[in-house]
Amino acid sequence: MKPLNQLFRQNILSLKPYSSARDEYTGEAAVFLDANENPYNQPYNRYPDPYQREVKDKIAGIKGLESAQIFLGNGSDEPIDLLYRMFCEPGVDNVVSIDPTYGMYQVAADINQVEVRKVLLTPDFELDVEALLAACDNHTKLLFICSPNNPTGNCFRAEDIQQLTENFEGIVVLDEAYIDFAPDKSFLPQLNNYPNLVILQTFSKAWGMAGIRLGMAFASQQIIKVMSNIKYPYNINILTQKTALELLNKVGQMQEWVQLLLKERERLEKQLNQLNFVEKVYPSDANYLLVRVEDARGVYEYLVQKQIIIRDRSSVALCAGCLRITVGTRDENEQLLEALGSYK
Ligand SMILES: *Cc1c(COP(=O)(O)O)cnc(C)c1O
Repeated sequence: MKPLNQLFRQNILSLKPYSSARDEYTGEAAVFLDANENPYNQPYNRYPDPYQREVKDKIAGIKGLESAQIFLGNGSDEPIDLLYRMFCEPGVDNVVSIDPTYGMYQVAADINQVEVRKVLLTPDFELDVEALLAACDNHTKLLFICSPNNPTGNCFRAEDIQQLTENFEGIVVLDEAYIDFAPDKSFLPQLNNYPNLVILQTFSKAWGMAGIRLGMAFASQQIIKVMSNIKYPYNINILTQKTALELLNKVGQMQEWVQLLLKERERLEKQLNQLNFVEKVYPSDANYLLVRVEDARGVYEYLVQKQIIIRDRSSVALCAGCLRITVGTRDENEQLLEALGSYK
């Protein structure tokens, strides 16, 4: 890995972050007349904690990390965008990404005028470690890996991820949005061994809180510090912070949902395999199934007309003929299966 100071953009390293009223004084007090807030309409009248201390402390406890290793963003989308802005000089630097994968890495690259070098997975959806490293040059700042991968659904081999992290000169961004559904372990316990690793997780999937927009990035304190310097000061509003805290006190609830969805996924997989137009249900480590069918567009449109919406992924690399189906409640999955049972 190159020294961090060579990886960061110079303007980002030298900027002076915005200092808010709540930055300068953080303790308890009887009277707050420092932020031009309206004294009425409590509790919404007050600015939220720009450092989200309470939420981070709670997450640190659950994940076994220091609070200073945690960044919270407006979904995972925010840390993805910030990583480009911290590390990639527009029009100069590039990133390497697997293909197929999550679409936001490309969108954020386009917004920031950064080239994405896409490297196909192998035909069995594994990482092509050699090709990924060969795609990097002196201007490659980020390497995006998503495990379990969206839309293929599989986790990558830990040895492959490890090998990439050890041999890449820049920052490896490992997106673990679906890790709570996977039998494989998160890379979080290894964070201290890899100063160039950034791990993304989210409240949008297993935690059931896509609507409150809360994403997490975990990395070394130096990286987290710079991310925090360049975010909007009050990026996580008080409603989101409050709601997240409530659910973080109920980890058992999240685990219950995961178990339920895993059981449903297994049932759905079996039933889908019974259908004559289903060619293959790919093994999944996530809360969705990638399914190859005879006529993907036809099946998709048939379901739309039955008011059931899935995702047509047939135009994505290595996914010809494939649909991506999210695991729903038992009742929702039954409606899907019943509709598919009378297709054709
Ligand atoms: C759903 C998903 C996310 C979550 O994004 P949020 O902005 O946190 O809702 C992140 N990465 C991948 C690969 C996803 O599929």
